[in-house]
Amino acid sequence: MSFEVRKLGIMGGTFDPIHYGHLVTAEAVRTEFDLDQVVFVPSGLPPHKDPATITPPQHRYLMAVLATLTNPHFEVSRVDIDRPGVTYTVDTLADLRREYGPEVEFYFITGADALAEIFSWKNAEELVRECTFVGATRPGFTLEHLSPEVEEFYHRNAASFRFIEVPALAISSTDLRRRIREGRSLRYLTPEEVVFYIKKNGLYRKTGENGPEEGGTA
Ligand code: ATP
Ligand code: MG
Repeated sequence: MSFEVRKLGIMGGTFDPIHYGHLVTAEAVRTEFDLDQVVFVPSGLPPHKDPATITPPQHRYLMAVLATLTNPHFEVSRVDIDRPGVTYTVDTLADLRREYGPEVEFYFITGADALAEIFSWKNAEELVRECTFVGATRPGFTLEHLSPEVEEFYHRNAASFRFIEVPALAISSTDLRRRIREGRSLRYLTPEEVVFYIKKNGLYRKTGENGPEEGGTA
């Protein structure tokens, strides 16, 4: 099914693997901001993560496809995994802009904790001109925890930021990978199709092979 897209949500991530935290957040932002579509964009080589510990992109992409299959407003893009080198959000947006055209409004969806890293992103000033950032917060999160520099950046660019509280989903890919190594269940943390895919391909079974012991924030 395809919709005319005027407002597009963009959910970037490593998705190693994708889980209900990502899906619930994307759907909450879609309905709250009246978005026509949300595109999940699995990263190629994320700048903040050790490439040796990341699952090959094709697996992460296919798990995202399986997880989003039943939502007609969700799709998955290959732009980041098909672009060689480290993935920078500024390049993601440029590719999506070429694909969707100049009229479409972009909403970049991210966990609010990941938003705090915006300064380390390439061309942060350019990014906030190009799209609205939607920070998904757990109830109770406030901007007070941020460093003075980040707070200053927010305030200067306040028009480009929105926040939304999503149910307190303490789900992370780090926890899912740990569960697999420990032989514990993934049931109800990610769609069944993803659980089957992980089992069928033997992903995440060895320490350090697919993902670090302790995960970063994004
Ligand atoms: P890892 O534990 O490996 O860091 P992750 O669960 O944080 O994985 P990512 O692929 O790093 O998943 O995250 C992609 C995006 O989704 C980021 O913007 C992140 O902040 C956000 N996100 C991750 N988990 C949740 C969650 N449970 N609720 C809301 N947003 C989330
Ligand atoms: Mg993370």
